[in-house]
Order: sequence, then structure tokens, then C-alpha cells
Amino acid sequence: MKEVILLKLGEIVLKGLNRNTFENALIKNIRRRLAPLGEFEVRMAQSTITITPGPGADLEGAVERVRKIFGVITFSRACVTEKSMEAVRAAAVEYLRPQLSTVRTFKVETKRADKKFPLSSPEISAEVGACLLDAFPNLTVNVHEPDVTVRVEIRDFGAYVHGEPEQGAGGIPVGTGGKAAILISGGIDSPVAAWMMAKRGVELTPIHFASPPYTSERAERKVAQLLGRVAEYAGRMYMITVPFARVQEEILDKCPEDYFTILMRRFMMRVSERIAAIEGCAALITGESLGQVASQTLESLTVTEDAVESLPVFRPLIGTDKAEIVSLSHQIGTFDISIEPYEDCCTVFTPRHPRTRPSLPYVEKAEAAL
Ligand code: ATP
Ligand code: MG
Repeated sequence: MKEVILLKLGEIVLKGLNRNTFENALIKNIRRRLAPLGEFEVRMAQSTITITPGPGADLEGAVERVRKIFGVITFSRACVTEKSMEAVRAAAVEYLRPQLSTVRTFKVETKRADKKFPLSSPEISAEVGACLLDAFPNLTVNVHEPDVTVRVEIRDFGAYVHGEPEQGAGGIPVGTGGKAAILISGGIDSPVAAWMMAKRGVELTPIHFASPPYTSERAERKVAQLLGRVAEYAGRMYMITVPFARVQEEILDKCPEDYFTILMRRFMMRVSERIAAIEGCAALITGESLGQVASQTLESLTVTEDAVESLPVFRPLIGTDKAEIVSLSHQIGTFDISIEPYEDCCTVFTPRHPRTRPSLPYVEKAEAAL
């Protein structure tokens, strides 16, 4: 049985004159994501993208990948048949058997792009409906709230038959929302923050601060692994690793211990802003959430942000609870990697009593010693 994947676009359809840009970006992302799985034809018509596999292409794999492409609101696998009622009826029964044998109610909806087809849309729906009632004794028709809507589309070259669509990843296509630098650690939060901004179309440049010899190569590989999971949604990324031990040693050596974390975070922001300028990134992104730890109180965030000269700092997790972040990280597939116990550059020098309400004049005085 020949199959295709049909994709419905999300918010893109609202984008007015920019619509073409968004659609083209999405098609490009789909082609790039499916390329390793064989030849696919990806075409756009009437706000639906159709993915048709070529000979030997991996359709199952394509479905897995499509599920993680931002900009797709729903998608369905559809069966392609010859353009005759006999073929359409047979396909509806056989192809949709798994869905239809487990529910109670259904209806049939038909779209007829080929106006020369001998039956009208309501006639086609009625005929397919009657055939399904015969084939599945468990089914009755409910046109208002059916468990499954069977869809028949009569096109010029053939017909499509499909059932209930699956939920897509939502969001808007990566690459249409500009480029930003994500400060990425090996923790639970920053990979989720990265995913959230990619969902809004942002292309990401990950920056990771590592502190060899205090942190291991294994810790760095863990971050790369985390990004690998995020990349299934966000597309290919190049991580920039910043050796940070010298900066940390200097702070440790010359500044009051209780201000260590906040000073370190200010340097992370400064270095990141410079890298962002080189990489053409228009914003910084962090995984901070208000009140989660001492360095994420309102006062600490203000002092951290003061070190950034001109870029906006986005903190998509600012108003989320840890439990919500954890649940998202399970969904994205990063949780199991995040909880692996490798040291981070922030944890190797944690002060015993970090400041929760740092004052900017004091911080600036402490920094003058560096
Ligand atoms: P995460 O789970 O993302 O590590 P966290 O709750 O542990 O966050 P912090 O360790 O205080 O919080 O870090 C706050 C944010 O600072 C992180 O979300 C991340 O954006 C950034 N950050 C922390 N450590 C690093 C690092 N080693 N390299 C790059 N960015 C970092
Ligand atoms: Mg952390």
C-alpha cells in the first residue's frame, strides 16, 4: 500500500505577507531533516505539505522526524489509492482498520479537488460510510462528535484516505525567528530553554563554559549529547566551548567568597555577549527561573543582567516551576542525560553561603580588584 505524510501548518497560516517565507523555511527544514532517510518529494499545496517517499525511503523514520519539526500543527499518514470508488472503499476498510476497530463512532469527510470525478463529495462520503458500517459492526455514525473522522481526498492523480491526524510539534519554523546564543550547561533547565526558543523559530548558537582541569571531558560530552537531543527539534548547531577556569581562579583569589557565583555569572554574560557579536546572534538565552537558587533572585538577575551591554537576555523559563521544567525535559528527551552526575563549572566552586540579595555597588567594587 502506497503511503504519504500530510502536514497541516500551525501559526504560519496567520502570517499574511510573510507566509511564503515561513512556508519555504519549513519546506527547507523538512528536506534537510529527511535527507538521511532517502529520497522524498516535499510539496506544498492548499496549506498542506505532502511528503511522498521515493523507492526505498524510510517512511517510519520520516514520521518520527516530522513529529519534531516546528511549524507543523498536525500530521497524518495517508494511503494513496487509484481514483475509483472501489479502491477508495477498500483502502478505507483495510488502511484504517487499526483505528476504526477500537472506536465507536465515525463520520466521513470528502474533499474533491478533481471536479470531473463522477460522484459529488457528499455522495462519496455516504458510499464510504455505508461500506465502513458493513465492515465494522462496532461503529455507528456521529456527524457532530465522532471518535474518528475518515477523510477522503480526490485529487487529480489519485485519492488519499486517512484518519485522525496526530499532534505535531507546533511552534514556527526554526530559522524564521533570527539567531540567538543559548548559554547551555549540563543541567535540566538550559536544554529546555533552548527547545522553547527554537520552538519560536530561533536558530541557536550554544555556548558552554567548561573548567578543565576541574571539569572533565566527559562533562563536556554530556552537554554535546544534550544538544544532540535538542537538535532533533532545533536543527544542526555548533557548540562553542569557553575555557573558564582561569577566570574562576582569579575571582576566587581576589574577591569575597559570598560574591563568587554572581561575579562568575557576570563574566559568563560578558564573554557570551562578545561571542554573540562574532556569531551574529541578536540575543542571549539562559535557563534561569525566578527564585530557583540564590543566583536567580530578582536582585541577582538584575546584577547579572547589568553586565550585558546591549543585547536582550531572554529567560523563557522565568515563570515556570521546576516540576514543569522536568516534565518538558522528559518530553524533549533530555532529562535522563541531564541527571547524569558530571560536575559543572558552576558547581566546582560553589560558595558556602552565596548572596541572595547582592548589591550592584558592592559587586562593582569587588570586580575592581580583578
Ligand atoms: P541549568 O539546569 O540550566 O544548569 P540551573 O538551575 O542549574 O540551570 P545555574 O547553574 O545557576 O542554574 O545556571 C543558570 C543558567 O546559566 C543556566 O540555565 C544556563 O543558561 C547558564 N549556565 C550555567 N552554567 C553554565 C555553563 N557551564 N555554561 C554555559 N551556561 C551556563
Ligand atoms: Mg546548572
